Amino acid sequence: MPDEYSKYLQSLNDQQLEAACGDMSTPLLIVAGPGSGKTSTMVGRVLFLLNEGISPSNILAMTFTTAAASEMRDRIGSIVGKATAKELTISTFHSFSLQLCRSHAEKLERTSEFLIYGHGQQRRAIIEAVRLLENEKSKQNDNACKPVDDSNRMRCLEYLKDKSKKWQKFVTQAKASGKTPAEFRKIGDEIGAAILENYNGILRSCNALDYHDLISCSVKLLSTFPEVFQEYQDSWKAIIVDEFQDTSAMQYSLLQILASHNRITIVGDDDQSIFSFNGADISGFDSFRKDFLNYKEIRLTRNYRSTRCIVEAASSLIQHNVKRCQLKNVQTDNSHGSKIIIKECHNEDAQCAFIIDKILEHASNGPASICSYGSIAILYRRQVSGKVFQTAFRERKIPFNIHGVAFYRKKVVRAIIAMLRTTLPGCDDGPYRRVFKAFLLLEKEEKKRVIDHIDKISIIRKCSFISAACDIFGAKISGTFKRSQLTQGRKVLLTLEMISKLVRREPSISAVITSVANMVPQKYLLEQRAVVDFDGGKLLNEDNDLRSVLQYLLADVTDFLSTKFTAAKEEGNVDQDKKGCINVLKAFIDYISERETENFRTQRHDNENSVTLTTIHQSKGLEWDIVFVAKANETEIPLVHEFNGAVNEKGTSVEEERRLLYVAMTRARKKLFILYVMMDANWQLLQPSRFLKEIPHHLREVQAEQSVQDQHENIPEGTAQFTINLPREENCCETDLVSTDFLNVQLSGAATESMELLEACNGNSFLRRFSVEDRSII
Ligand code: ATP
Ligand code: MG
Repeated sequence: MPDEYSKYLQSLNDQQLEAACGDMSTPLLIVAGPGSGKTSTMVGRVLFLLNEGISPSNILAMTFTTAAASEMRDRIGSIVGKATAKELTISTFHSFSLQLCRSHAEKLERTSEFLIYGHGQQRRAIIEAVRLLENEKSKQNDNACKPVDDSNRMRCLEYLKDKSKKWQKFVTQAKASGKTPAEFRKIGDEIGAAILENYNGILRSCNALDYHDLISCSVKLLSTFPEVFQEYQDSWKAIIVDEFQDTSAMQYSLLQILASHNRITIVGDDDQSIFSFNGADISGFDSFRKDFLNYKEIRLTRNYRSTRCIVEAASSLIQHNVKRCQLKNVQTDNSHGSKIIIKECHNEDAQCAFIIDKILEHASNGPASICSYGSIAILYRRQVSGKVFQTAFRERKIPFNIHGVAFYRKKVVRAIIAMLRTTLPGCDDGPYRRVFKAFLLLEKEEKKRVIDHIDKISIIRKCSFISAACDIFGAKISGTFKRSQLTQGRKVLLTLEMISKLVRREPSISAVITSVANMVPQKYLLEQRAVVDFDGGKLLNEDNDLRSVLQYLLADVTDFLSTKFTAAKEEGNVDQDKKGCINVLKAFIDYISERETENFRTQRHDNENSVTLTTIHQSKGLEWDIVFVAKANETEIPLVHEFNGAVNEKGTSVEEERRLLYVAMTRARKKLFILYVMMDANWQLLQPSRFLKEIPHHLREVQAEQSVQDQHENIPEGTAQFTINLPREENCCETDLVSTDFLNVQLSGAATESMELLEACNGNSFLRRFSVEDRSII
């Protein structure tokens, strides 16, 4: 065995080594808690397989994110060399399935250029599916939604949009679990069956598949076409899967077929399953035990990541879950470390200020500094909670990095990608509509009127958006628009033509992207000020926005080209043929659309000395020295305060919400801060997360906000005199307060104990009632 391999394997503990070097043809199940070295063991397993003579091109490693895939490739590459690492297939379920489906598209009644529908396109297709059903119903009885005039048409659209939310959830769940229309019909759900049927029909006619289709179509290809099955059996002699707890029933079926040779290793932790809204299903562990009869199960019990305090606190929390597949006894030899700080903050600004103070204390160059910015993360439940940090960090010049998804959600980036998409064969209406939105330099209302008119013509003529636009601006239909509007429309068409020519002529994808980005109108860029957000606040000058967008995009092109996508390899051929970069562009857009819809973090290596801002979902599998879990409130974790039964708005259970906090806590190596706020931006009072009291007293230190007692030491019991500054809009005034309706403040009993003076944003202060009972919660 090469020295580097054995050196790595020697660094593993006995259980890890047993797993990494277990018999190749025995299916292996590694179940272990966070930080116990599951991913590290997977790397060891790959080394072992290579040493056993399995060719790197015959090893398939499935990870859950593109970032995890490239991180694993880097780790393995540093041991076995970059060339060998490149030959490995380390892939997400989606990109693996995408390649499979593209190679056999004709068997799926698609062409190999089929489109991938993301969330927005899926929603539009669902609206159409619901509309078809409503029309069907209206033929039978006359009271369904019928578009007659414009206002009725709008009402009808609103109604369909409303309904489509519910049906989108339904279609997603049906696809993740692999249910067909026939199965819904069997249980008497005629409407469900019809919606699913209509939806599938629409996608077929648009030459499109959605993300769940990619998986289910792969299963279909492998299970119904023996030649496809044989090809893949021959290709993948060993399969490894990380984060198995997040696989859906469909993804499990795919694995089951691929691993009929039994050479499969799965690694996971049921307590970290947090993607049930995406179809993740922890019953996969039981299925594995049932389906792979001679499997071997190995537990890793030692946590290497976190201090003992963090490990024990997280274990105590998760023990409150009743539905756990396997109980784990996690130990650690790490030092006890400091207690977990649970910090109460008046509001989000106060929370942000506290976090900044702590970051500067720990990561500045001062004597108390123990780490770099790069080893600090702020985790929160919802993307929107990150905004306040971005603004404050920019002001304080603290470098930060937010995950790539936010970047691909930027309107300006979407506009650039839409411009590129229009050059691909079979492009649907979405990208064209987006390009018009970005390029029509008209006032908002005017722009809307123009786009609505194109939509209307396309409906009347039953043609595509772009054909309608060509007809209108090619002056085949006249009289509707002002001269300036027509000029603008024609300019957009000319730009589209230029982009199309460019892609066909220019062999380098980077050059195409650079030219296309430079075509985005300055006016549009200025409208999208938020564009600096993704950049870690380093580029404050808005003129630089486009440059930084471009840099980021080009860095992704480099990442993409350096991976093992077959289409990327074709670039050389394309260069020689002088046919432009259309094939590479197509593959790049596939790659991007996966990242666009992916729920996960894509950590950029070029931002290593920046504080990470990310959602908890995207923090999976990662670790930092210091972690701040922000806004651990009842409105966030669990997401909705009022539970109806055990299920919240997103369809996840209280137990899954607890797992979410568990994942967040276990990202920390040395220090963990959990913060909650007392009121939101609208001065609504908020409660701390119910899960905080499940962290044992001896492992936490609660830091309350300064109380009235601290601030006004001499207030006699039973009476109190406060200064209250009312919000600006109510004519800021000072008043002696005994009782007021404002925020329902009432003084009674021990005023010093029952009242808190809250500092709110903008220097306003309020009083609020905060009873002893509330306080006992922590
Ligand atoms: P998660 O459940 O969060 O994905 P994991 O089980 O995959 O965690 P790893 O990320 O593989 O855990 O490892 C956690 C940390 O422990 C890493 O910093 C890793 O380098 C370290 N580690 C793993 N195994 C060992 C070992 N045998 N000796 C020393 N450190 C180890
Ligand atoms: Mg891991």
